[in-house]
Amino acid sequence: MTGFQTRLVHQPKQNDNNTGAVTVPIYKATTFAYPKIGAEVKYDYSRSGNPTRNAVEEQLADLEGGARAFLFGSGMAAIHAALAIFQKGDHIIIGDQIYGGTFRILHQFFENWGLEVTPIDTRDLTAVEWAIQDNTKGVYFEPVTNPLLQVTPVAGIAKIAQKHGLLTIVDNTFLSPYLLNPIEYGADLVVHSATKYLSGHSDVSAGAVITKDEELAKRVYFVQNAIGGVLSPEDSNELARGIKTLALRMDRQEANVLKLVAFLKKEKGIAKIYYPGDPDLAGYEELKTEAKGAGGVFSFELDEAVYDPEVFVNSLEIFALAVSLGAVESLVELPSKMSHAELSPEEQLAAGIKPGLIRLAVGIEDADDLIEDLKQALAKAKR
Ligand SMILES: *Cc1c(COP(=O)(O)O)cnc(C)c1O
Repeated sequence: MTGFQTRLVHQPKQNDNNTGAVTVPIYKATTFAYPKIGAEVKYDYSRSGNPTRNAVEEQLADLEGGARAFLFGSGMAAIHAALAIFQKGDHIIIGDQIYGGTFRILHQFFENWGLEVTPIDTRDLTAVEWAIQDNTKGVYFEPVTNPLLQVTPVAGIAKIAQKHGLLTIVDNTFLSPYLLNPIEYGADLVVHSATKYLSGHSDVSAGAVITKDEELAKRVYFVQNAIGGVLSPEDSNELARGIKTLALRMDRQEANVLKLVAFLKKEKGIAKIYYPGDPDLAGYEELKTEAKGAGGVFSFELDEAVYDPEVFVNSLEIFALAVSLGAVESLVELPSKMSHAELSPEEQLAAGIKPGLIRLAVGIEDADDLIEDLKQALAKAKR
Protein backbone atom coordinates (compact mmCIF):
# COMPACT_ATOMS: atom_id res chain seq x y z
CA MET A 1 0.00 0.00 0.00
CA THR A 2 1.51 3.32 -1.09
CA GLY A 3 1.39 6.35 1.24
CA PHE A 4 -1.27 9.04 0.76
CA GLN A 5 1.17 11.72 -0.34
CA THR A 6 2.71 9.40 -2.96
CA ARG A 7 -0.80 8.72 -4.24
CA LEU A 8 -1.42 12.47 -4.52
CA VAL A 9 1.55 12.91 -6.83
CA HIS A 10 1.18 9.78 -9.00
CA GLN A 11 -1.88 9.68 -11.21
CA PRO A 12 -2.92 6.36 -12.72
CA LYS A 13 -0.88 5.74 -15.89
CA GLN A 14 -2.64 5.91 -19.25
CA ASN A 15 -2.21 2.68 -21.18
CA ASP A 16 -1.81 4.43 -24.55
CA ASN A 17 1.04 6.63 -23.41
CA ASN A 18 4.04 5.57 -25.54
CA THR A 19 5.93 8.85 -25.23
CA GLY A 20 7.23 8.51 -21.70
CA ALA A 21 5.35 11.66 -20.69
CA VAL A 22 5.20 11.71 -16.90
CA THR A 23 1.86 13.50 -16.79
CA VAL A 24 -1.41 12.47 -18.42
CA PRO A 25 -1.91 14.21 -21.80
CA ILE A 26 -4.83 16.59 -22.38
CA TYR A 27 -7.10 14.67 -24.74
CA LYS A 28 -9.13 17.29 -26.59
CA ALA A 29 -10.81 14.74 -28.88
CA THR A 30 -14.60 14.71 -28.51
CA THR A 31 -14.93 11.43 -30.42
CA PHE A 32 -12.86 8.25 -30.57
CA ALA A 33 -12.68 5.86 -33.53
CA TYR A 34 -13.90 2.26 -33.41
CA PRO A 35 -11.47 -0.23 -35.00
CA LYS A 36 -14.47 -1.93 -36.61
CA ILE A 37 -18.22 -2.12 -36.23
CA GLY A 38 -19.30 -3.77 -32.99
CA ALA A 39 -15.82 -3.51 -31.38
CA GLU A 40 -15.62 -3.09 -27.57
CA VAL A 41 -13.91 0.28 -26.98
CA LYS A 42 -12.95 2.07 -23.78
CA TYR A 43 -13.76 5.52 -25.20
CA ASP A 44 -16.25 6.54 -27.86
CA TYR A 45 -17.47 10.04 -27.00
CA SER A 46 -15.97 12.57 -24.58
CA ARG A 47 -19.10 13.29 -22.52
CA SER A 48 -19.35 9.56 -21.78
CA GLY A 49 -15.64 9.14 -21.06
CA ASN A 50 -12.46 11.14 -21.59
CA PRO A 51 -8.98 9.78 -20.77
CA THR A 52 -7.77 13.03 -19.13
CA ARG A 53 -10.88 13.31 -16.97
CA ASN A 54 -11.00 9.59 -16.21
CA ALA A 55 -7.39 9.58 -14.94
CA VAL A 56 -8.30 12.20 -12.30
CA GLU A 57 -11.55 10.37 -11.51
CA GLU A 58 -9.62 7.16 -10.88
CA GLN A 59 -7.16 9.00 -8.68
CA LEU A 60 -9.92 10.66 -6.61
CA ALA A 61 -11.73 7.35 -6.13
CA ASP A 62 -8.47 5.97 -4.76
CA LEU A 63 -7.75 9.00 -2.53
CA GLU A 64 -11.25 8.83 -0.99
CA GLY A 65 -11.20 5.03 -0.67
CA GLY A 66 -14.26 4.69 -2.93
CA ALA A 67 -15.15 2.48 -5.89
CA ARG A 68 -15.48 5.23 -8.52
CA ALA A 69 -15.41 9.01 -8.89
CA PHE A 70 -17.10 11.37 -11.33
CA LEU A 71 -16.00 14.90 -12.22
CA PHE A 72 -18.26 17.81 -13.09
CA GLY A 73 -17.91 21.44 -14.16
CA SER A 74 -18.63 22.74 -10.64
CA GLY A 75 -19.34 21.58 -7.11
CA MET A 76 -23.03 22.37 -7.65
CA ALA A 77 -23.16 20.17 -10.78
CA ALA A 78 -21.64 17.35 -8.69
CA ILE A 79 -24.14 17.90 -5.86
CA HIS A 80 -26.96 17.93 -8.41
CA ALA A 81 -25.78 14.54 -9.71
CA ALA A 82 -25.53 13.04 -6.21
CA LEU A 83 -29.08 14.21 -5.35
CA ALA A 84 -30.53 13.27 -8.75
CA ILE A 85 -30.15 9.57 -7.91
CA PHE A 86 -33.25 10.01 -5.69
CA GLN A 87 -36.80 9.92 -7.02
CA LYS A 88 -39.99 11.90 -6.81
CA GLY A 89 -41.62 11.30 -3.41
CA ASP A 90 -38.33 10.50 -1.64
CA HIS A 91 -37.46 12.37 1.55
CA ILE A 92 -33.97 13.36 2.63
CA ILE A 93 -32.67 14.83 5.87
CA ILE A 94 -30.13 17.62 5.41
CA GLY A 95 -27.80 19.50 7.73
CA ASP A 96 -29.29 22.89 8.65
CA GLN A 97 -25.95 24.67 8.08
CA ILE A 98 -25.08 23.25 4.65
CA TYR A 99 -23.69 25.39 1.81
CA GLY A 100 -26.17 28.05 0.62
CA GLY A 101 -26.06 26.85 -2.99
CA THR A 102 -27.04 23.36 -1.83
CA PHE A 103 -30.03 24.80 0.07
CA ARG A 104 -31.00 26.70 -3.07
CA ILE A 105 -30.87 23.68 -5.39
CA LEU A 106 -32.85 21.61 -2.85
CA HIS A 107 -35.57 24.22 -2.21
CA GLN A 108 -35.83 25.79 -5.66
CA PHE A 109 -35.11 22.80 -7.89
CA PHE A 110 -35.43 19.41 -6.19
CA GLU A 111 -38.56 20.31 -4.20
CA ASN A 112 -40.29 21.19 -7.51
CA TRP A 113 -39.02 17.86 -8.77
CA GLY A 114 -40.85 16.09 -5.89
CA LEU A 115 -38.09 15.56 -3.33
CA GLU A 116 -39.01 16.30 0.30
CA VAL A 117 -36.36 17.87 2.52
CA THR A 118 -36.05 18.34 6.31
CA PRO A 119 -33.20 20.48 7.69
CA ILE A 120 -31.83 19.29 11.06
CA ASP A 121 -28.85 20.17 13.26
CA THR A 122 -26.97 16.95 12.46
CA ARG A 123 -24.86 17.24 15.63
CA ASP A 124 -28.04 16.11 17.43
CA LEU A 125 -28.28 12.42 16.52
CA THR A 126 -31.59 12.00 18.37
CA ALA A 127 -33.12 14.77 16.25
CA VAL A 128 -31.78 13.11 13.09
CA GLU A 129 -33.35 9.76 14.02
CA TRP A 130 -36.65 11.48 14.94
CA ALA A 131 -36.80 13.14 11.50
CA ILE A 132 -36.80 9.79 9.65
CA GLN A 133 -40.09 9.12 7.83
CA ASP A 134 -41.37 6.10 5.85
CA ASN A 135 -40.14 7.69 2.60
CA THR A 136 -36.74 8.87 3.92
CA LYS A 137 -33.94 7.70 1.64
CA GLY A 138 -30.87 9.67 2.66
CA VAL A 139 -29.02 12.02 5.00
CA TYR A 140 -26.92 14.81 3.45
CA PHE A 141 -24.55 16.90 5.58
CA GLU A 142 -21.16 18.59 5.94
CA PRO A 143 -18.84 17.25 8.70
CA VAL A 144 -17.47 20.80 9.19
CA THR A 145 -19.86 23.64 8.34
CA ASN A 146 -19.39 27.17 7.07
CA PRO A 147 -18.90 29.73 8.62
CA LEU A 148 -19.26 28.44 12.22
CA LEU A 149 -17.18 25.25 11.77
CA GLN A 150 -19.72 23.04 13.53
CA VAL A 151 -18.55 19.42 13.61
CA THR A 152 -20.69 16.34 12.87
CA PRO A 153 -18.66 13.11 12.84
CA VAL A 154 -19.62 10.84 9.92
CA ALA A 155 -19.80 7.58 11.91
CA GLY A 156 -22.71 8.62 14.15
CA ILE A 157 -24.90 9.63 11.21
CA ALA A 158 -23.87 6.62 9.09
CA LYS A 159 -24.80 4.22 11.89
CA ILE A 160 -28.33 5.63 12.10
CA ALA A 161 -28.62 5.71 8.31
CA GLN A 162 -27.54 2.07 7.98
CA LYS A 163 -29.99 0.98 10.66
CA HIS A 164 -32.84 2.56 8.65
CA GLY A 165 -31.56 1.66 5.16
CA LEU A 166 -30.72 5.26 4.18
CA LEU A 167 -27.82 6.57 2.13
CA THR A 168 -25.27 8.81 3.84
CA ILE A 169 -24.04 11.65 1.60
CA VAL A 170 -21.17 13.81 2.81
CA ASP A 171 -19.97 17.12 1.37
CA ASN A 172 -16.27 16.78 2.20
CA THR A 173 -15.17 20.08 0.60
CA PHE A 174 -13.97 21.63 3.89
CA LEU A 175 -11.62 18.80 4.87
CA SER A 176 -10.66 17.19 1.52
CA PRO A 177 -9.55 13.55 1.23
CA TYR A 178 -6.28 14.52 2.91
CA LEU A 179 -7.93 15.20 6.26
CA LEU A 180 -11.01 12.96 6.16
CA ASN A 181 -12.18 9.92 4.19
CA PRO A 182 -15.94 9.77 4.94
CA ILE A 183 -16.37 6.36 3.23
CA GLU A 184 -14.06 4.85 5.85
CA TYR A 185 -16.60 5.98 8.49
CA GLY A 186 -19.66 4.65 6.68
CA ALA A 187 -20.58 7.25 4.02
CA ASP A 188 -22.05 5.98 0.74
CA LEU A 189 -21.44 9.06 -1.40
CA VAL A 190 -18.92 11.87 -1.01
CA VAL A 191 -19.17 15.17 -2.88
CA HIS A 192 -16.58 17.91 -3.31
CA SER A 193 -16.43 21.39 -4.62
CA ALA A 194 -13.06 20.72 -6.25
CA THR A 195 -12.99 24.48 -6.91
CA LYS A 196 -11.65 24.78 -3.35
CA TYR A 197 -8.82 22.71 -1.78
CA LEU A 198 -8.48 20.04 -4.48
CA SER A 199 -7.57 22.50 -7.24
CA GLY A 200 -6.28 25.01 -4.71
CA HIS A 201 -5.33 28.02 -6.86
CA SER A 202 -8.63 29.89 -7.46
CA ASP A 203 -8.47 29.14 -11.18
CA VAL A 204 -10.57 25.99 -11.74
CA SER A 205 -14.29 25.47 -11.21
CA ALA A 206 -14.89 21.74 -10.64
CA GLY A 207 -16.87 19.22 -8.61
CA ALA A 208 -16.63 15.53 -7.77
CA VAL A 209 -18.84 12.68 -6.59
CA ILE A 210 -17.17 9.56 -5.16
CA THR A 211 -19.22 6.41 -4.58
CA LYS A 212 -18.63 3.64 -2.08
CA ASP A 213 -19.63 0.87 -4.48
CA GLU A 214 -20.26 0.02 -8.12
CA GLU A 215 -24.05 -0.01 -7.75
CA LEU A 216 -24.12 3.65 -6.66
CA ALA A 217 -21.51 4.40 -9.31
CA LYS A 218 -23.91 3.21 -12.01
CA ARG A 219 -26.59 5.57 -10.74
CA VAL A 220 -24.26 8.59 -10.60
CA TYR A 221 -22.69 7.75 -13.97
CA PHE A 222 -26.15 7.65 -15.50
CA VAL A 223 -26.71 11.26 -14.36
CA GLN A 224 -23.22 12.39 -15.42
CA ASN A 225 -23.63 10.97 -18.91
CA ALA A 226 -27.32 11.86 -19.32
CA ILE A 227 -27.13 15.47 -18.06
CA GLY A 228 -23.59 16.00 -19.30
CA GLY A 229 -22.17 18.56 -16.87
CA VAL A 230 -18.70 17.03 -17.20
CA LEU A 231 -15.35 18.66 -16.40
CA SER A 232 -13.39 19.69 -19.52
CA PRO A 233 -10.07 17.97 -20.35
CA GLU A 234 -8.19 21.25 -19.78
CA ASP A 235 -9.73 21.78 -16.34
CA SER A 236 -9.21 18.10 -15.49
CA ASN A 237 -5.50 18.67 -16.19
CA GLU A 238 -5.40 21.79 -13.99
CA LEU A 239 -7.18 19.89 -11.23
CA ALA A 240 -4.66 17.03 -11.52
CA ARG A 241 -1.87 19.57 -11.04
CA GLY A 242 -3.57 21.03 -7.96
CA ILE A 243 -4.12 17.63 -6.36
CA LYS A 244 -0.38 16.89 -6.34
CA THR A 245 0.28 19.62 -3.75
CA LEU A 246 -2.88 19.16 -1.67
CA ALA A 247 -1.07 17.83 1.41
CA LEU A 248 1.71 20.45 1.27
CA ARG A 249 -0.78 23.29 0.91
CA MET A 250 -3.11 22.08 3.63
CA ASP A 251 -0.30 21.46 6.13
CA ARG A 252 0.86 25.07 5.64
CA GLN A 253 -2.66 26.47 5.73
CA GLU A 254 -3.41 24.72 8.99
CA ALA A 255 -0.11 25.80 10.55
CA ASN A 256 -0.91 29.39 9.52
CA VAL A 257 -4.43 29.20 10.98
CA LEU A 258 -3.08 27.98 14.31
CA LYS A 259 -0.68 30.96 14.44
CA LEU A 260 -3.46 33.43 13.60
CA VAL A 261 -5.75 31.87 16.19
CA ALA A 262 -3.00 32.09 18.82
CA PHE A 263 -2.58 35.79 17.96
CA LEU A 264 -6.33 36.54 18.11
CA LYS A 265 -6.75 34.72 21.43
CA LYS A 266 -4.50 37.36 23.03
CA GLU A 267 -6.24 40.36 21.46
CA LYS A 268 -8.94 42.29 23.31
CA GLY A 269 -12.28 42.81 21.58
CA ILE A 270 -12.41 39.36 19.96
CA ALA A 271 -15.66 37.88 21.28
CA LYS A 272 -15.32 34.34 19.97
CA ILE A 273 -13.14 32.14 17.72
CA TYR A 274 -14.42 29.17 15.73
CA TYR A 275 -11.80 26.57 14.76
CA PRO A 276 -12.08 22.87 15.68
CA GLY A 277 -8.35 22.35 15.04
CA ASP A 278 -7.49 24.13 18.31
CA PRO A 279 -7.76 21.98 21.44
CA ASP A 280 -9.25 24.92 23.41
CA LEU A 281 -12.09 25.55 20.95
CA ALA A 282 -15.47 23.90 20.28
CA GLY A 283 -15.61 20.81 18.07
CA TYR A 284 -12.00 19.67 18.69
CA GLU A 285 -12.86 16.42 20.50
CA GLU A 286 -15.51 15.46 17.92
CA LEU A 287 -13.30 16.32 14.94
CA LYS A 288 -10.30 14.40 16.16
CA THR A 289 -12.26 11.12 16.29
CA GLU A 290 -12.13 10.99 12.47
CA ALA A 291 -10.20 13.85 10.85
CA LYS A 292 -6.45 14.45 10.64
CA GLY A 293 -6.90 18.22 10.87
CA ALA A 294 -9.34 21.10 10.52
CA GLY A 295 -8.12 22.78 7.33
CA GLY A 296 -7.47 26.40 6.43
CA VAL A 297 -10.76 28.14 7.24
CA PHE A 298 -11.70 29.74 10.55
CA SER A 299 -14.02 32.45 11.85
CA PHE A 300 -14.10 34.92 14.70
CA GLU A 301 -16.42 37.55 16.10
CA LEU A 302 -15.31 41.13 16.55
CA ASP A 303 -16.89 42.81 19.57
CA GLU A 304 -18.87 45.50 17.78
CA ALA A 305 -18.53 47.91 20.70
CA VAL A 306 -14.76 47.85 20.13
CA TYR A 307 -14.33 47.37 16.37
CA ASP A 308 -16.20 48.25 13.17
CA PRO A 309 -16.29 44.94 11.20
CA GLU A 310 -16.75 46.64 7.81
CA VAL A 311 -13.75 48.92 8.35
CA PHE A 312 -11.76 45.85 9.45
CA VAL A 313 -12.42 43.80 6.29
CA ASN A 314 -11.98 46.85 4.03
CA SER A 315 -8.60 47.60 5.66
CA LEU A 316 -6.97 44.21 5.14
CA GLU A 317 -4.29 44.32 2.46
CA ILE A 318 -3.00 40.76 2.00
CA PHE A 319 -6.37 39.09 2.59
CA ALA A 320 -8.50 39.71 -0.52
CA LEU A 321 -12.15 40.53 0.19
CA ALA A 322 -13.70 37.53 -1.57
CA VAL A 323 -15.88 34.46 -1.09
CA SER A 324 -14.50 30.93 -1.74
CA LEU A 325 -11.73 29.16 0.16
CA GLY A 326 -9.04 26.53 -0.02
CA ALA A 327 -6.61 28.32 -2.32
CA VAL A 328 -2.98 29.41 -1.86
CA GLU A 329 -3.94 33.05 -1.28
CA SER A 330 -5.66 34.30 1.87
CA LEU A 331 -9.24 35.59 1.65
CA VAL A 332 -11.59 37.35 4.05
CA GLU A 333 -15.34 37.59 3.93
CA LEU A 334 -18.09 39.10 6.07
CA PRO A 335 -20.83 36.42 6.07
CA SER A 336 -23.61 38.85 7.12
CA LYS A 337 -22.96 41.01 4.03
CA MET A 338 -21.58 38.42 1.56
CA SER A 339 -22.09 34.62 1.69
CA HIS A 340 -25.21 34.81 3.91
CA ALA A 341 -26.60 38.16 2.73
CA GLU A 342 -29.79 36.56 1.37
CA LEU A 343 -30.86 35.69 4.94
CA SER A 344 -32.88 38.33 6.85
CA PRO A 345 -31.21 39.81 9.97
CA GLU A 346 -33.46 37.57 12.13
CA GLU A 347 -32.54 34.45 10.12
CA GLN A 348 -28.87 35.39 10.35
CA LEU A 349 -29.04 35.67 14.13
CA ALA A 350 -30.94 32.35 14.35
CA ALA A 351 -28.12 30.78 12.29
CA GLY A 352 -25.53 32.29 14.67
CA ILE A 353 -24.24 34.81 12.14
CA LYS A 354 -23.64 38.14 13.88
CA PRO A 355 -22.69 41.34 12.01
CA GLY A 356 -19.21 41.10 13.61
CA LEU A 357 -18.54 37.56 12.35
CA ILE A 358 -15.45 37.45 10.11
CA ARG A 359 -14.44 34.38 8.09
CA LEU A 360 -10.87 33.90 6.95
CA ALA A 361 -9.74 31.36 4.36
CA VAL A 362 -6.03 31.23 5.09
CA GLY A 363 -3.45 30.67 2.37
CA ILE A 364 0.20 29.64 2.32
CA GLU A 365 1.83 33.07 2.80
CA ASP A 366 4.22 33.87 5.68
CA ALA A 367 2.21 33.73 8.90
CA ASP A 368 4.01 36.82 10.22
CA ASP A 369 2.80 38.87 7.26
CA LEU A 370 -0.76 37.67 7.79
CA ILE A 371 -0.60 38.56 11.50
CA GLU A 372 0.77 42.03 10.67
CA ASP A 373 -2.12 42.49 8.25
CA LEU A 374 -4.68 41.58 10.93
CA LYS A 375 -2.93 43.94 13.39
CA GLN A 376 -2.99 46.98 11.12
CA ALA A 377 -6.64 46.35 10.12
CA LEU A 378 -7.70 45.95 13.77
CA ALA A 379 -5.97 49.27 14.57
CA LYS A 380 -7.90 51.01 11.78
CA ALA A 381 -11.21 49.38 12.77
CA LYS A 382 -11.00 50.49 16.43
CA ARG A 383 -13.96 52.75 17.33
C1 LIG B 1 -18.18 26.12 -2.81
C2 LIG B 1 -18.93 25.00 -2.18
C3 LIG B 1 -19.87 24.26 -2.90
C4 LIG B 1 -20.25 24.60 -4.32
O1 LIG B 1 -19.22 24.35 -5.22
P1 LIG B 1 -18.98 25.20 -6.58
O2 LIG B 1 -17.71 24.64 -7.09
O3 LIG B 1 -18.92 26.66 -6.19
O4 LIG B 1 -20.15 24.93 -7.47
C5 LIG B 1 -20.49 23.20 -2.26
N1 LIG B 1 -20.22 22.89 -0.98
C6 LIG B 1 -19.33 23.59 -0.25
C7 LIG B 1 -19.07 23.19 1.16
C8 LIG B 1 -18.66 24.66 -0.82
O5 LIG B 1 -17.78 25.37 -0.07
